[in-house]
Amino acid sequence: MTDDAASRDRVLVLAPAGRDAQLAAAVLSDAGLAPLVCADMEAFCQALERGAAVGVITQEALAREARARLVEALTKQPLWADFPLVVLASRPATHAARLRLSETVGEVGNVTLMDRPLHPETLVSTVKSAMRARARQYQTRELMSQLEEAVQQRDKFLATLSHELRNPLGAIRNAMRVLERHDDSERRRPMAIIERQVAHMARLIEDLLDVSRVTTGKVVLQRRRFDLRDALQQTLTQMEPAFEQHHVGLIASLGAHPLWVDADVVRIEQVFTNLLNNAVKYTPAGGRVDVSAGVDGPQVWVRVRDTGVGIEPEMLTAIFDLFSQVDRSLDRAQGGMGIGLTLVRSLLALHGGTVTVASEGLGKGSEFTARLPLAAPGEAPAVASGDATSAIEEKPHVLLVEDNEDNREMLRDLLAGEGFRVDVAADGAEAVAEAQRLEPEVVIVDIGLPVLDGFEVARRVRRSLGDSVTLVALSGYGRVEDRRRSMEAGFDAHLTKPVDFAELQAALASRARSAASAMR
Ligand code: ADP
Repeated sequence: MTDDAASRDRVLVLAPAGRDAQLAAAVLSDAGLAPLVCADMEAFCQALERGAAVGVITQEALAREARARLVEALTKQPLWADFPLVVLASRPATHAARLRLSETVGEVGNVTLMDRPLHPETLVSTVKSAMRARARQYQTRELMSQLEEAVQQRDKFLATLSHELRNPLGAIRNAMRVLERHDDSERRRPMAIIERQVAHMARLIEDLLDVSRVTTGKVVLQRRRFDLRDALQQTLTQMEPAFEQHHVGLIASLGAHPLWVDADVVRIEQVFTNLLNNAVKYTPAGGRVDVSAGVDGPQVWVRVRDTGVGIEPEMLTAIFDLFSQVDRSLDRAQGGMGIGLTLVRSLLALHGGTVTVASEGLGKGSEFTARLPLAAPGEAPAVASGDATSAIEEKPHVLLVEDNEDNREMLRDLLAGEGFRVDVAADGAEAVAEAQRLEPEVVIVDIGLPVLDGFEVARRVRRSLGDSVTLVALSGYGRVEDRRRSMEAGFDAHLTKPVDFAELQAALASRARSAASAMR
C-alpha cells in the first residue's frame, strides 16, 4: 500500500443513492475532516489501496459484486492494518442484510454499523474515533519498519565486523604456520595458546557471520552422502584437547552400523562442534560427556549428554533463541554470545532435522538430541581431501596479489615453503602487469585491492592469459552472492579469510588434476 501523509487523513465516502454522499461529505468537511467522495466501489477500493484513514459507505452501495470487490481490497491489507469502515445501515436495515454484511465484509474488515436517520455529530464522532485507531495503526507500521531497518543494519554490521576481523586473524594464522616450522621447544607453549585462541576467535567470527546468513536463508548446503559416524569422529578428535584441558571425560559410543545421511559435512560438524563445545563449557571439572548415536525408524539420532550445570525447565525452549543466554555468573565466565544453539537448530532444520533438549534442572546435567533424516546406504568413504595435495607433482608458478603486507608475506613464505614458485603484487594494476609479464599458472587474488579490485584483475588476467591460468579469489566475504560474483568475474575458486592453507592447497591440487586430465 503506497500512501502519503495527506492520504492517511482522507475519509473515503461512497453513497451512490441520492444526495447522501454530498450530505455526509458536507458534515465531515464542516467538522474539519478531509472527505473524498468516490463514484463507485472500484474508485473507493483504489483510493483505499493508495491509503486512507476511514471509509464511510451506505449499505445500498454494498450489493453482492461491490461487496466482493471490497473484501478483495481489505484482504490485501498489510498485517499491521485494519481499515475502519463506517457503514450507514439501510432504512430499515433488515436482520438478513446485517447478517450478510457481518459475514462478508465483517470477516475481513473493522466494520461499525450505524442506523439511520443519523445525527451528524454521531457520524463525526464515530469517524474521528475510527481515525484515531487508524493513526495508531500507521504508528505501528512506522515502528515495524524502524525495527526491520534496525535488523538489517544489525546484519550488515555483523557481516562487516566479521569480515574486518578475519583479515588480522588470517595474518596471525599464517604467521603461526611459519613459526611452527621452527622446532623450538621454548616457543611451543605460547604458540599452542595462540593457535587455540585464534581457532576460538575464528569460530566466533564464523558463527557471527553464519547466524545472519542462516537466518536470512542465504546458506546453500553442499550435500553428499556420508556415514555420520565419520563426521562425529572427526569432531570428537578435534574437541579432545578442550575436554582434556577442562578435565571433563568424553565417551563416545557410535554403534557398529553406518549412519547414512545426505548432508553438508561442514555444517554437520559445525552443529556437533557447537553442542560439544557447550557440553564442555557448562560441565565443571571432573564431569563427563557421553555421545551416542543410532537409527530410529526413518531418522538418525545423536545424543550429547553431560553431567554439568543443567538448565531450568523454564529456559528449555528459550535457549534456542538468538542471543539467548541463561543469566548465570558461570555462563558469563565461560564467554559466548548466545548464537550457538540458534545455529544448531537452524542448520539442522535446513537438513530437515531437529534438535531437542532435556534437563532435570539445575545441577542435573543436560541432554541434547539431534535428529536427521536417514539416507539410503552410500558407498565407502571417499578419499580424504588431505590426499589432494599429493596430486601436485610439479608445483605451479603462483602470482600472489594481496595489498596487506603481513598477509602477503606470510602467505608467500607458506607457499614458498611448500615448494611453490611465488611472485607477488600489491595492487590491482601491478597484478595485471605482472600476470602478463610472468604468465603464472595460478593467480591468487585478494578481492579488496587498491587501484583495481580483485574482480577486475580476474577479468583482465583471464582476457590476457585465457583458460590456462587458474584464478583463486581470497576474500573476507564468503556469502553465496560473493562466491557467485567471483565466478562471474572468471575465478575458478573462492576462498574466505582467514585462508585455510589445506583448502588453498586443495584448490591448487584440483587445478593440477584438471590440467593433467586435459592433457590426456
Ligand atoms: P552461548 O553458549 O554462547 O551462551 P548457546 O546458544 O550455545 O550460546 O547457548 C545458549 C544458552 O544455553 C547458554 O548461554 C547456556 O545458558 C545454555 N546451554 C547451552 N548448552 C548447555 C549445556 N550443555 N548445559 C547447560 N546449559 C547450556
